Amino acid sequence: MTRRPHRRPGRRRARLAPLPAALLLAGLALMVADAPAVALEPLSPLAPVPGGSPWSGAYRSLQNRAREAETKARAGMRMRQAEAMRPAGAAKAMADYDVRWYGLALDINATTRIVTGTTTVRAQVVGGPLTRLDLDFGIQMTASAARSGGTPTTFTWNAGILGVDLDRSYATGETVEVAIDYAGNPTSSAFGWDIHQGQPLIWTLSEPYGARIWWPCKDTATDKADSVALDVTVPSNLIVASNGVLTGVSEPAAGRKTYHWRERYPIATYLVSLAIHPYAVINDVYHPEAGGTMPVTHYVLPSQLGPATSGYAVTIDMMNAFADAFGEYPFVAEKYGHAQFPWGGGMEHQTCSSMSYNNYDEYLIAHELGHQWFGNLITCADFSHIWLNEGFATWMEAYWKEVRYGTAAYHAEMAAARYLGAGTIIVENPTDFAAIFNWYLTYLKASWVPHMLRHVVGDSVFFAGLRQYRQAHGFGAATTEQFRDVMEAASGRDLDAFFQQWIYGEYFPRYDYAWRTEPTDSGWRVRLRIKQTQTGAGVFTMPLDVHISTANGLYAFVVENDAVEQWYALEVPWTPVTVALDPQNWVLCEKRFLGASDVPDAVVALELAAAPNPFNPRTTVRFRLADEREATLAVHDAAGRLVTLLASGRFAAGEHGVDWDGRDRDGRAAASGTYFARLRAGGDTRTLALTLVR
Ligand SMILES: [Zn+2]
Repeated sequence: MTRRPHRRPGRRRARLAPLPAALLLAGLALMVADAPAVALEPLSPLAPVPGGSPWSGAYRSLQNRAREAETKARAGMRMRQAEAMRPAGAAKAMADYDVRWYGLALDINATTRIVTGTTTVRAQVVGGPLTRLDLDFGIQMTASAARSGGTPTTFTWNAGILGVDLDRSYATGETVEVAIDYAGNPTSSAFGWDIHQGQPLIWTLSEPYGARIWWPCKDTATDKADSVALDVTVPSNLIVASNGVLTGVSEPAAGRKTYHWRERYPIATYLVSLAIHPYAVINDVYHPEAGGTMPVTHYVLPSQLGPATSGYAVTIDMMNAFADAFGEYPFVAEKYGHAQFPWGGGMEHQTCSSMSYNNYDEYLIAHELGHQWFGNLITCADFSHIWLNEGFATWMEAYWKEVRYGTAAYHAEMAAARYLGAGTIIVENPTDFAAIFNWYLTYLKASWVPHMLRHVVGDSVFFAGLRQYRQAHGFGAATTEQFRDVMEAASGRDLDAFFQQWIYGEYFPRYDYAWRTEPTDSGWRVRLRIKQTQTGAGVFTMPLDVHISTANGLYAFVVENDAVEQWYALEVPWTPVTVALDPQNWVLCEKRFLGASDVPDAVVALELAAAPNPFNPRTTVRFRLADEREATLAVHDAAGRLVTLLASGRFAAGEHGVDWDGRDRDGRAAASGTYFARLRAGGDTRTLALTLVR
């Protein structure tokens, strides 16, 4: 069962109108203002329905991810053409300036479906002299005028690039400001005019390249604006939800209201959003670590007030959990919350996630909230590295499970996210939207990257490393390599192989393993053989957990595995019963146990061991009896003389331990040297050398 967007079926074609003379002069292509909606045709699901019981939590969690992946992939498909249109020189020209601020003043006519607006761009020149400011701007909106430095200027539009001629030449370091007036119907999968119960439900979803459809901008995550102002005018019965803080609502004319939203944290263009409806507003409160309060505001359909009030209540607990682990909520001077929209999944718009209006699954809430740290605070530098957003947000669903329900729930969640198929997590072609939002790779397999890395470096280093990642790249953007460098510095480990094999490589290791044992002076040595048998994926370098169970407990080891075939020697004091490889599933792999050989009986009549050994001043001598019997445990010196009697009597079956403090039976400290613990039970005797080091 895969939820489709609540859109009307069928589609009509946009007509091209004759170009007005003024626009012809500017070289603009024009789509008529009343261009009809390009409705979404029914697509086959990009994310197949998961198997298993549809009533399980794991199933629902998988569905949520599928929904989000679909939501985004559908949005992106429509943008493929627009992105391909960007001229080759435009990217270089855009590198010559650094955006500081966008101001969006938009008037939204819900009846005519026309957006009339002015976008102001303030930027610092970094590659002067600059005489023209290039911006991404889609085909559906029409620019009518532009100003530079406050004076009218000329502009061109060509293949998705709006070039605004500056009023003069600007040198490196100078600040340039341009304003563009425009209008049109931005209907697309980035901007929708829906009707819900007779009322407009207007929404945006601009990831990955949709911002340019409804406002001119430098549409790349590596150049976040330091702040954005949105002044949005709507019919007075509607409420506008957006990014940052609502600083006021004014009435510019009878029947019209203007919502003044201010996002004062850096923000990527695709995270700038609008959600407009006669919403009911739910107010909750988050208490930041540093004190004070921060509003948590949910904009919900009035009919959803009850379900949303209870459904979104968990948000506060999640914020506390994530703040504890990943540092304070990033936009703590503003707000968090949700705005309901007609898609089936969610979208992590900064400080105001857009959410399906009838899905309160806490894992969907956790996913979009998780993005506020991974995606919004630190944004993937380009969509090749989308896993830094989606892999983390998906992993944070499992992390929330761990916080709320414990480690078994965490591991169950990760097990449900296993993907063992082909393909690389890195998106080799970031104009391929199906690849960007590939459910299996970008969501499922990528969620295993933080999961595995956590085990490779250990919890304390992992979480400390994530904080350092935030320090280094917070409010900016990062690549896989920048994340790797931070985690290498935090852990002191060379993680190149880890990221190469998991992000740039395909598939996963398949481990065949077998073991045998041999006795030692103090117990048993397990000879473990691990062979990597995958094909077409190279050799994986991973630390692997090995748990050896004995009748007297579990012994845990970690072996470094980095060759096709490797042998390991692991010593335990008691008879090995089973050897488990990666028993908690910290590695995305397949395992095949080929058997054990020379394994002694699980229970032998007598066992004898000591730890520590060598020792000073005290050791514990342990012995095990297969059945209840009379036994004596004594210490003799190298000449066979009795030093002391440690135990004597009738003992139950099982393990017994006796301390020897290195003193003889008269209480005198024994000299350095080798002694022998001798266990006699029935007709059996076991002897163990003990080394006392003074
Ligand atoms: Zn996501």
